[in-house]
Amino acid sequence: MRALGYVRGRSLAEAARLLAEGGGEFVAGGTDLVQRLEDGVLPPARLVDVKPGDGLDAIQIDGDEVRLGALVRLAEVIEHAELRRALPVLVEALEATASPQVRNLATVGGNPLQRTRCLYFRDPTLPCNRRAPNSGCGAREGRNRNTAILGTSEHCIAAHPSDFAVALAALDTEVETSRGRTLSLLDLHRLPGTVPEREHVLDPGELIRSLRLERSTLAERSHYLKVQDRGEFEWALCSAAVAVDLDDGGGIRAARVAVGGFATKPWRLPRVEAALVDRQPGPALFREAAARAVEGAQPRGENAFKLELLPRTIARALEELHEARP
Ligand SMILES: Cc1cc2nc3c(=O)[nH]c(=O)nc-3n(C[C@H](O)[C@H](O)[C@H](O)COP(=O)(O)OP(=O)(O)OC[C@H]3O[C@@H](n4cnc5c(N)ncnc54)[C@H](O)[C@@H]3O)c2cc1C
Ligand code: SF4
Repeated sequence: MRALGYVRGRSLAEAARLLAEGGGEFVAGGTDLVQRLEDGVLPPARLVDVKPGDGLDAIQIDGDEVRLGALVRLAEVIEHAELRRALPVLVEALEATASPQVRNLATVGGNPLQRTRCLYFRDPTLPCNRRAPNSGCGAREGRNRNTAILGTSEHCIAAHPSDFAVALAALDTEVETSRGRTLSLLDLHRLPGTVPEREHVLDPGELIRSLRLERSTLAERSHYLKVQDRGEFEWALCSAAVAVDLDDGGGIRAARVAVGGFATKPWRLPRVEAALVDRQPGPALFREAAARAVEGAQPRGENAFKLELLPRTIARALEELHEARP
């Protein structure tokens, strides 16, 4: 049996090198990783940590550019007055995430890379292609109420679990890595396709250094709506992150709509966005545009109710935003 190990890099570059050369798992807040180790979902591994500093634990605002170091805690974003004003959808998504205790540990780099809550993935005795390649997908014919209807494949239909990543997707966030690469958050996660165990495009030993966002009038008029089975401390059954910018006549100049709980990765809906632009905001328009969200959706068994829930969630999020910031 393999033993659990632990090493700490003095910088992100050193942590990345330790991972590339010796393998193992990077640990940030540890709230997802340690649970997977405890549940036997992940075999004992060498954990690679990194010393904070060098901007990794800093929130930096320079003009309209906002940079969140990968080790910034979720609670620190919530407590930041300027982020609350400039990027409300981000703060609202984090306030709806987990518990205060978890948010004090969990980081903005680790949250988007947490693994799915599919119950077959989380139980090492059950078949799951994502955890154990080629073992089968238990959820396809089994308990699949919480699975996705967008971006699925024959091999995996698991929904992406992160609330925060949905808000990041709506705000056109860029991910900066330890290799000096910059990529769109929308390109960070892979569709499951035939290799669902490969969840993101980072190379072995490549780590998220920071998240880069822009302050704008669009981002200021943004909102996150989460629907969950229990009142608190629960992952989303579904969610919508919306942002709408208005012109001088009150018409919609630009719109962003991203959804969670419906898709296998953080998911933008460009057809819904296009249906909103150059129109006057109001409940009828929101319902008409939101109806386009289910184009191409593939429901399966217990998750068919999401066909109705998806447009309703988007329309309600847009209505709440319009009422709060007319
Ligand atoms: C009781 C409970 C309730 C929860 N409810 C919610 C909820 O409602 N909504 C929600 O979104 N989440 C929820 N979560 C999940 C929680 O938000 C995540 O576990 C947490 O955000 C992960 O961040 P972390 O820093 O602890 O990551 P870790 O557990 O340290 O890491 C997670 C994964 O990301 C990788 N990783 C971490 N940092 C980096 C980096 N910089 N570069 C590359 N890879 C990296 C790790 O190797 C690991 O595979 C809940 C968790 C608990 C325990
Ligand atoms: S949906 Fe994905 S995570 Fe769930 S059992 Fe199937 S392969 Fe595993």
